[in-house]
Amino acid sequence: MAQRFLPIVVLGLVAGLVLVIALWSIDHYRLTRGSTAYSAQQATGEGLPETTAIEWKLVTTWPKNLPGLGSAPENFARYVNAMSNGRLSVKVFGAGEIVPAFGVFDAVSQGVAQAGHGAAYYWKGKIPAAVFFTAIPFGMTAQEMNGWLHYGGGLELWRELYQPFNVIPFAGGSTGVQMAGWFNRELRSADDLKGLKMRIPGLAGEVFDAAGGTAVRIAGGEVYTSMQTGVIDAVEWVGPYNDRTLGLNEVADYYYYPGWHEPGAMLEFIINDRAYNALPDDLKAVVSAAARAANAAMLDEFTARNNESLRDLLDQGTDLRRLPDDVFARLHQRAQEVMAALVASDPMAAKIQRSYQGFYDDVRAYHAISEQAYLDARARVLPPTGNN
Ligand code: CA
Repeated sequence: MAQRFLPIVVLGLVAGLVLVIALWSIDHYRLTRGSTAYSAQQATGEGLPETTAIEWKLVTTWPKNLPGLGSAPENFARYVNAMSNGRLSVKVFGAGEIVPAFGVFDAVSQGVAQAGHGAAYYWKGKIPAAVFFTAIPFGMTAQEMNGWLHYGGGLELWRELYQPFNVIPFAGGSTGVQMAGWFNRELRSADDLKGLKMRIPGLAGEVFDAAGGTAVRIAGGEVYTSMQTGVIDAVEWVGPYNDRTLGLNEVADYYYYPGWHEPGAMLEFIINDRAYNALPDDLKAVVSAAARAANAAMLDEFTARNNESLRDLLDQGTDLRRLPDDVFARLHQRAQEVMAALVASDPMAAKIQRSYQGFYDDVRAYHAISEQAYLDARARVLPPTGNN
């Protein structure tokens, strides 16, 4: 009896199996088609929620929301966020929020933060040759520094210098020519530099020491109090725009010009190399372009804002003075000695100095008959400005 029904049972089982396979195939086909459609939609980014963004912390050596110097990191973050359509999100932290002002380089080097903004000369204790990438006393202007960095081999040397620290530098804005600074003592001759205690960083600090003064390293957030309490007799910060923000006119008697020590102070963006190399190529290009744009924007901002700030300071009674010529002569002499000692003691400084000096000699020769010749000609034919 059971044997009679066996072929029917086998046939039934085979038919069932065929049906199951058929249904699975149709379902699989649908799923495959569906996920292909999904991928295409994902590629165009249409109608999908934001994919997970890469988040970077950017630490700075400036107090949060400081105009001028502090605009560059905010601009950079804004440009990156907009250009990457939110795929790379940069959040800016002021000095002391994650690390102190002078902890920025180490934080980026160690990956505590992916990015930083500050000035290379703050790291000269660790990297003596870093001073070339902020300012050299009696050295290049903002325009000349930008030429050297981006078209004269400077940036490549800067990257070589920071490479052992896993840090990639980018030009991070320039202040243009700074002011010589705020003094509570009158400078009638070079001998008045003796015994003066001044906040003045970088190679200029060493020059100031060699000229008989005492250079002190203080972050921007603390210079007002240091002047007010008499810890220091003088302070250089930036120029009218940023100096007025810190209220330095309230704690000093004289405002001297020009900034022999920082003729075009270059700031820096620094990026942790692992964080940078982990980015896809388009986001690397975004970071690079955002840094270049923020670099240019800073000089524009200072050029536009210093003027009204100076007028305002003069209205409030600031005593504006030009440094006497023999002060320049003394400082220049000491600057040459300090540079010779740096070059003799540090092979990387010697290598960078050759590039810097070669470019400087050439650009100075041309600027003598272009920028400088024009400014001289302009001063001869136009009426005085009131500051002179
Ligand atoms: Ca300065």
